[in-house]
Amino acid sequence: MLYLSTIIDNFVRKIILIFCFTAICFCAKTIDAVDNTEKSKTYSVNQDSDFIGEEIKKANLDYCMTFCSKLGPVYTVIPRFGSPRCHIFDPSNENKVEPDDLIKNRETITDIIMHHTGCDLGQTLKIFSNGQNPFVNAHFIVTETGDIIQMVDPKYVARHAGISEFRGKESYNLFSIGIEMVNTGFKINGASKNVNMTEIAKLTEYPKKQTESVFNLIKFLCGEYGIKDNIFAHGDVAPTRKWDPTSTFPWNELFSQEFGMGVSDDQIKEARQILGQKMCLRSECGKRCFDQTFYALLRCFGYTVLDNDVSKDINEYKNDVHNPVMAFLAHFSRNGQDIEQLREPLVFADLCHLYALCKKYPTGNNPNIDALIKSCE
Ligand SMILES: [Zn+2]
Repeated sequence: MLYLSTIIDNFVRKIILIFCFTAICFCAKTIDAVDNTEKSKTYSVNQDSDFIGEEIKKANLDYCMTFCSKLGPVYTVIPRFGSPRCHIFDPSNENKVEPDDLIKNRETITDIIMHHTGCDLGQTLKIFSNGQNPFVNAHFIVTETGDIIQMVDPKYVARHAGISEFRGKESYNLFSIGIEMVNTGFKINGASKNVNMTEIAKLTEYPKKQTESVFNLIKFLCGEYGIKDNIFAHGDVAPTRKWDPTSTFPWNELFSQEFGMGVSDDQIKEARQILGQKMCLRSECGKRCFDQTFYALLRCFGYTVLDNDVSKDINEYKNDVHNPVMAFLAHFSRNGQDIEQLREPLVFADLCHLYALCKKYPTGNNPNIDALIKSCE
């Protein structure tokens, strides 16, 4: 009797299981159907909401999920949005995108440009989705907690770099991918919002979770588009207007993982031996050999240095944040240091770092680098 009841019991359980399984399959099919109909809609940004409207969440869902799933486990959910984990704008949305020939399919992607947003996430999303002039956006936003939001498919041009020139190339928007990291940039003494070097009290750090996500994204994009060295700061390509993502972005750590540009201790040591033979680069020689060599090497590496600026004392010149000296210090020889150290006068070590970079990464039309060294000896 006990045996019979066990058989009946098992039978009932199986029936219940089969019923549940059928119900789940049916529900999944229904959800699929809902998603498919939603995809055919045109999605637009709800201007009144703090965040992007629900409708954006559903745009290009399939593409988005396929893309994001390749990024690995660091990729997490934005709680405000819930699932799915990634959100992407439909560039065909005429309400958002200007009828502009910049927004088009492009064949070549050769560079990645890093930015900080200078504001919080809510403000960032508003700015990048308002669809009004001045129209700005970027391909990816990475939040402080490490979430990645795709705003524009990399196959389209996004307007993140503006007027730009570096290493013999110009108009970086056309061939680069823009990554914006949510970061306020710096704290300012007093109420002024002007970026004046003397008013900046402290630069804002990037949380570990954020840089881990950024590195994952960079590595993914490098693999996808065959990029290795060409990962630059907005400040590198537009030094007279920008200096994001500042020296707190861990460029050195990225380079230690073999992405982006940088030089080894040995390469700097070698530069030290060559430049060290010119004593007037180490001391005040009166003829500004140090300054003139520094300016020449900045140009040699690819920075825009205006003719008028070359006549300025280089330390005076760098007392503004928007210039190629600051861009170079933040990315290379003083990466990881705060504003106090950036304000310090240039030293021989900075010059050696720059020389080593020029040697390692010559641009197409480089003259003989050693001929650029000014010396009155
Ligand atoms: Zn920027």
